Amino acid sequence: SARIEIEGLKVEVEGKEILTGLDLTVAQGETHALMGPNGSGKSTLAYAIAGHPAYEVTAGAIRFDGEDVTEMAPNERAAAGLFLAMQYPTEIPGVSLTNFMRTAVNATSEEDMPVRQFMTKLREHMADLKMDGKFLERNVNEGFSGGEKKRFEILQMAMLKPRIAVLDETDSGLDVDALRIVSEGVNKLRGPDLGVLLITHYTRILNYITPDHVHVMAGGRIVKTGGADLAEMLEAEGYEQFES
Ligand code: ADP
Ligand code: MG
Ligand code: MG
Repeated sequence: SARIEIEGLKVEVEGKEILTGLDLTVAQGETHALMGPNGSGKSTLAYAIAGHPAYEVTAGAIRFDGEDVTEMAPNERAAAGLFLAMQYPTEIPGVSLTNFMRTAVNATSEEDMPVRQFMTKLREHMADLKMDGKFLERNVNEGFSGGEKKRFEILQMAMLKPRIAVLDETDSGLDVDALRIVSEGVNKLRGPDLGVLLITHYTRILNYITPDHVHVMAGGRIVKTGGADLAEMLEAEGYEQFES
């Protein structure tokens, strides 16, 4: 099975070192929660995995499926089976959700999916996520509420069938009902072929998505790793003990 292996990763943003030597491995079939206080570098890690040009890797490596992807372009990473919702633009004027999804699906697969099969799958996944059929014609993220954007993220993941998915703050700004729908969407996709890195500040979503492993990040690296019970400990005690 494929895995993403991050080793001794140091990342600078605008000349400032944000990741200070981070080690983490996520394999297909596993769900990891990455937690930590605000400013600890969680999103920086997500952008570095996505290959965002503003995030400069100065040491260490990111390997995917045994291959060093540190210098790989974002679209090549996606084609290899890495899913990073944040690598896509927030709003795309004039591009409908249907056309966006069709382009994305065909760009990340060897062969184009027949239109009817594509539409059937898209409608099925949208129904699971309680997304109205009207979204098919809506322009990507234009006027979407916070909850609708998060559902669209999970829809992309469902359609693209990545091997490893990185979800950054998928829970933020969701009310309880939306949180449940989004979590159920993720849980439905979990299985031996999908590895998930679920990045979150809050333990709330972990009541719905039980992680196999929990990591605490502070000061740009992982400072503690444990099982699901580590999240319960954080819920009770907070992050203070990890902040210097
Ligand atoms: P988290 O997601 O854990 O809250 P971030 O990765 O967003 O943490 O931020 C970590 C640190 O990096 C913060 O001090 C933040 O100000 C800084 N940082 C992140 N992205 C940028 C950027 N594009 N420009 C300048 N500083 C940044
Ligand atoms: Mg963040
Ligand atoms: Mg193709």
